[in-house]
Amino acid sequence: IREAGGDKIMSLSTATHKALSRKALIEKRLLQALNQKDLKVFYQPQFDLHSSKITAVEALVRWEDEEIGIVTPDELIPIAEETGLINNIGSFMLDKACEQAMLWKKAGFDLKVSINASVREFRDKNMAKSILDTLAKVGCPANLIQIEITEKFALEAESETFITQQMRKLENAGIGFVLDDFGTGYGSFKYIQILPIDTLKIDQTFVNALLKSEKTQKLVHGMLQLGKSMDLKVVAEGVETAEQVQLLKTYGCDIIQGFYISKPVTPAEIETMLQQ
Ligand code: C2E
Ligand code: CA
Ligand code: CA
Ligand code: CA
Repeated sequence: IREAGGDKIMSLSTATHKALSRKALIEKRLLQALNQKDLKVFYQPQFDLHSSKITAVEALVRWEDEEIGIVTPDELIPIAEETGLINNIGSFMLDKACEQAMLWKKAGFDLKVSINASVREFRDKNMAKSILDTLAKVGCPANLIQIEITEKFALEAESETFITQQMRKLENAGIGFVLDDFGTGYGSFKYIQILPIDTLKIDQTFVNALLKSEKTQKLVHGMLQLGKSMDLKVVAEGVETAEQVQLLKTYGCDIIQGFYISKPVTPAEIETMLQQ
């Protein structure tokens, strides 16, 4: 029908093929990397503005494959979610995070470790139990571990009651939940009410726009006040400049995370920072 579009359709399908084969390649190599424990975990500090101390770190997956090169989390995670390999990534990250949290605890550092979870991991009915089993195996106290969930997660958790049940089970055991990318979804306020969340993480897009827009300033100030009034901790993420820190301080922000403090780094580099 579309004579003139012939070329376009051809090139589109070539592009689609390329994307498909890259996806298949990533899936294949990822499975291998998981089996060989070839993924790495980097940690990004969270800095408490009152105590001027690093009080927590966020664990972020890093993968450099010898064939493909670096695959960023933004490409890796959606593919892993689609293929189900996210469950393997999740348990790898949890193992590593618990072991690292224990090493830091034994070294005398008082540090919580946050891990990111996808909703698909919580569809596994044994999720809560296997998290608690891992903690027990490593001997890691539950209150050292926090789980970051996004609003997409929250949206789905709402309609699948056993996901919420698993969250409550973990909460009762002492694990904290962080609502990540706060403010970017539709139901931010609802989820604070129905899910066992104790920390809000203001999305970096707000922090990024802070100095450019007075409206954003009011929004961020409002989010911080809301958090306070609900007894939630509030973390601002993606903080890059001293000017942003200054504004966030005047709005009563307690904890910041971002390149201004440090990019995600190795455990050894975290220790160097803790010793300073
Ligand atoms: P996220 O959870 O929102 O993590 C924050 C992202 O922002 C990280 O990107 C971090 O490196 C980056 N970032 C931190 N500070 C700054 C800053 O000051 N400026 C800018 N421009 N960026 C900053 P990363 O490591 O590439 O991860 C991207 C996303 O991938 C994460 O977003 C998270 O949703 C997902 N992800 C990463 N690791 C895991 C994982 O182990 N499991 C799951 N399920 N998701 C993960
Ligand atoms: Ca996160
Ligand atoms: Ca985030
Ligand atoms: Ca994000």
